[in-house]
Amino acid sequence: MQSIYYDRATDPAHAVRLAQQPGAKFIGGGTNLLDLIKADVEHPVRLIDITRIGLDQITELADGGVRIGALARNSDTANHRLIRERYPLLSQALLSGASPQLRNMATIGGNLMQRTRCPYFTDTAFDMCNKRKPGSGCGAREGYSRVHAILGASNACIAVNPSDMNVALAALDASVVIATPRGDRVIAATDFHRLPGNKPEVDTMLLPGEMIVGVDLPASPFALHAHYLKIRDRASYAFALVSVAAALDMEGGMVRKARIALGGVAHKPWRLAAAETLLQGKNLTDDHRIAAAKALTAGARAFKDNKFKIELVQRAIVRALRTAEGVA
Ligand SMILES: Cc1cc2nc3c(=O)[nH]c(=O)nc-3n(C[C@H](O)[C@H](O)[C@H](O)COP(=O)(O)OP(=O)(O)OC[C@H]3O[C@@H](n4cnc5c(N)ncnc54)[C@H](O)[C@@H]3O)c2cc1C
Ligand code: SF4
Repeated sequence: MQSIYYDRATDPAHAVRLAQQPGAKFIGGGTNLLDLIKADVEHPVRLIDITRIGLDQITELADGGVRIGALARNSDTANHRLIRERYPLLSQALLSGASPQLRNMATIGGNLMQRTRCPYFTDTAFDMCNKRKPGSGCGAREGYSRVHAILGASNACIAVNPSDMNVALAALDASVVIATPRGDRVIAATDFHRLPGNKPEVDTMLLPGEMIVGVDLPASPFALHAHYLKIRDRASYAFALVSVAAALDMEGGMVRKARIALGGVAHKPWRLAAAETLLQGKNLTDDHRIAAAKALTAGARAFKDNKFKIELVQRAIVRALRTAEGVA
C-alpha cells in the first residue's frame, strides 16, 4: 500500500507553497480524486486539503460581474441568488450534474479539473490508454467508442471532457483565475481545457504547482434567454452524451448576441465564434438554427460506436436555441 502525506493549507499562499513539493495534489471535495486514487489511476504523494482557505465565497465584482471562489460547492453556487438571477445557464448546468449529495461536496475548482470518464482511462484492467499511461496506445479508438469525441480528437486520444459546468462557463465568457508562485494569472474558460493532440495526459493549461482560486463571470446580457440542454442515457445521475449551452441576447425578436457551447463532443467545451455570428442580427428561423448547428459541427468525425452523436448534437443545438428564445 502506498502511503500519502496529508497537509491542510491555511490560506491560498500557503496552499501554493505546499504544492511546490513533488507529487503534491490539491483536494477539494474529493469526489473525483479519491475515486481515481482507489482505482489506482492517480498516485499523489501528498494531498493538500484546500477546503479551509477561505475561497468559498460568491461575490459581486465592480464591473457588474461575479467571482465564484474555487472552493464554493456546486450546490451552493447553483442555488446562489446572484447565479440564479444573472447566470441561470450556469445554475441549470450545475444542477444537471451528478447527484445532490455529490454536488454538496464538489467544488468549482475540482469540477474544472475533473478527469475524463473514458472507461479505458478509469479501469486499469485495460492496458492501452495514452492518457493514463503515455505511449501505451488508445483502447477506445478501435474499441468501445460510444461516449467519445466527434470533434477535435487526435490519433492519441478521443476522450471527452465530462463536465456540465465547463460548458456553461465557456458559453458565458468566464475566466479562470489562477494562483502561481509568481502571482495570479487569468485564462479564458474557452482556453483553459486543451485538445488532446499528442499529449492527452495533459487536460488543461494549469501548470504543476498552480491553483485555481476562482472563476470570474463578466456582466451578462444572457439571463433572460438561456438554456442548458443535456442529453443522456438516464434522466438523472448520468454524464452527458451531448449537451448544449445556448444563450441569446434579444432585442424585440432579433438576436443581438449569441453564445453556443457544446459538451460531450470533444476534449474541451466546443465553441465556434463563426457559428454564433450566423445568428446575430437575425429574427431566427429553423434555417438559421440549423445553419449554426452545421457550422458548429463542421469537420465532425465519428468512430465505430458514436456516429449517432453528430445528428444528435445538431438536433440538440436547434432545440436548445428554440428553448432559450422561448419558441415552442
Ligand atoms: C457518480 C458521479 C456522477 C457524476 N456526474 C456528473 C455529471 O453528470 N456532470 C458533471 O459535470 N460532473 C459529474 N460528476 C463529477 C463531479 O462533478 C466531480 O467529481 C466534481 O465536480 C469534482 O469536484 P471535487 O471538488 O470533488 O474535486 P476533487 O476530487 O477534490 O479534485 C478533482 C481534481 O481537481 C484538482 N483540484 C481541485 N481543486 C483544485 C483547485 N482549486 N486548483 C487546482 N486543482 C484543483 C484535484 O487535484 C484533482 O485533480 C460526477 C461524479 C460522480 C462521482
Ligand atoms: S480515448 Fe483517451 S482516455 Fe480513452 S483510452 Fe484513448 S487515450 Fe485513454
